[in-house]
Amino acid sequence: MPLTPFPDSAIQQYAGQRRKMVEELVNRGIKDYRVMEAMSRIPRHLLVGESFQHKAYGDHPLPIGESQTISQPYVVALMTEALQLKGEDRVLEIGTGSGYQTAILAELAAQVFTIERIRSIGQNAKARLEQLGYMNVVYKVFDGTYGWRDLGPYDAIILTAAGPEVPPVLIEQLKNGGRLVAPVGEQDSQQLVAIVKNGARVARRVIGDCSFVRMIGKYGWPEEQ
Ligand code: SAH
Repeated sequence: MPLTPFPDSAIQQYAGQRRKMVEELVNRGIKDYRVMEAMSRIPRHLLVGESFQHKAYGDHPLPIGESQTISQPYVVALMTEALQLKGEDRVLEIGTGSGYQTAILAELAAQVFTIERIRSIGQNAKARLEQLGYMNVVYKVFDGTYGWRDLGPYDAIILTAAGPEVPPVLIEQLKNGGRLVAPVGEQDSQQLVAIVKNGARVARRVIGDCSFVRMIGKYGWPEEQ
């Protein structure tokens, strides 16, 4: 049975705070108009637990259960901008989490393939995103460090959990001209790395500092640390 869509009144809540959040992103240097439009529309407060809704538009991460967090809006905007989505792209996301980044990708790309390793988190995000009406998302509960080879290659890949390096299998699953964004570094602080693949050449630049939860899996960090 399909879930009941969120009523308009729930979606419209916090409109003022949402506008302020986007203004702040512009002040901090986000330029991609499509990213800002998507973030103006998406009810971020409906993707966090009820007790955190009033804090959903502050520029900070928030807990989403199972020791995981929803990323802060500025970092989400910066990473999405670096993916240079044009509307026709097929995008792979590793770390579904709250589903907020997934919703932005679903607005800006043709199809989104998202992988989450914690079943309850993945199921919760799927339910919320279906209630919000997103139909162009395919979900999987698995270790995303392997990517999703069968459905690739992708125009863009985004990792929203941090590993010691970008898994080489993910670069293999990028199309020629494809973009990848990932937090890479130590367990408690990382750099945001933006990669563009051109044939055998892989151009890589650092676009900012960040602190993401650990990406746990075969090509990430081991579970017991
Ligand atoms: N973009 C999300 C980020 C959530 S935190 C948001 O803003 O809500 C990162 C998520 O990555 C967590 O839910 C965590 O369980 C998940 N994760 C960690 N390692 C993973 C892996 N190997 N494969 C898939 N998901 C992973």
